[in-house]
Amino acid sequence: MEYLFDTHTHSDYSHDGVPSLESLVISAIDKGLKYLAVTDHCDKDCVALPGFDWVRQIDLVSRKKEISALKEKYADKIVLADGLEYGYAKEANDLYVQVEKTYPADYVINSVHVVEGVDVYFREYFEARTKKEAYTAYLNAVRESVDVPYAYDAIGHVGYIARMAIYPDKSMLYSDYNDLIDDILKAVIAKGKALEINTASKGTKCDLFHDTAILRRYRQLGGELITIGSDSHDPSRLCDEFQEAAAAALSCGFRYAFVYKNHSPSPVALDK
Ligand SMILES: [Zn+2]
Ligand SMILES: [Zn+2]
Repeated sequence: MEYLFDTHTHSDYSHDGVPSLESLVISAIDKGLKYLAVTDHCDKDCVALPGFDWVRQIDLVSRKKEISALKEKYADKIVLADGLEYGYAKEANDLYVQVEKTYPADYVINSVHVVEGVDVYFREYFEARTKKEAYTAYLNAVRESVDVPYAYDAIGHVGYIARMAIYPDKSMLYSDYNDLIDDILKAVIAKGKALEINTASKGTKCDLFHDTAILRRYRQLGGELITIGSDSHDPSRLCDEFQEAAAAALSCGFRYAFVYKNHSPSPVALDK
């Protein structure tokens, strides 16, 4: 890899993040990263839908001030990108249109965490559905999330559903959902968005990483924009499994991953 970077990380501005913003930046510098996107949760899906009052909403005003100061303070050591991870729900589309007007970010990941009104982090989502029903509804939501009316840069963690699934075989294989996944990949490419390789999917079997049928198919269809993110909520996981992710991407025909500044992608060579 040309240099170390991480495009998906959380600080304690996220309801479930551990490190303070500054300690996250310092950890990244200590680890040798030259680029860090802090992509705290902006969960307007939890505002628009009932039953999510327990999710602490992000303080965007304080965060903007703090991240702007840190960008300057550490400018000679690291490129710090002000990112957000939006939680998609179609009911929240107008709220995100408002967020982007008032909070200009460098980089936005659009992710699906809630499907049919339930967070797929919790067992109740799976208890009420067969695996086929659960994964099909999730992939339909991911497909919808590509077409939102607000700006974003990458589609986050496709296959997230498999992380917490309760089925004996959690795997989300390309061959089981090929039409739906093709539809997602073609839409991502047509919109000029990036597909994220998220390395937090350890122990689950999703065909994007470590198995790579989805990634390979994305390349076959003409996909070029990929990002690599650890989804770390704790600095010990910064760049976790990035060598494996880079090797997987190279084996599928990608030569570069991309990092974003001001919504603009820059290539990072994977074969150096
Ligand atoms: Zn996420
Ligand atoms: Zn995340």
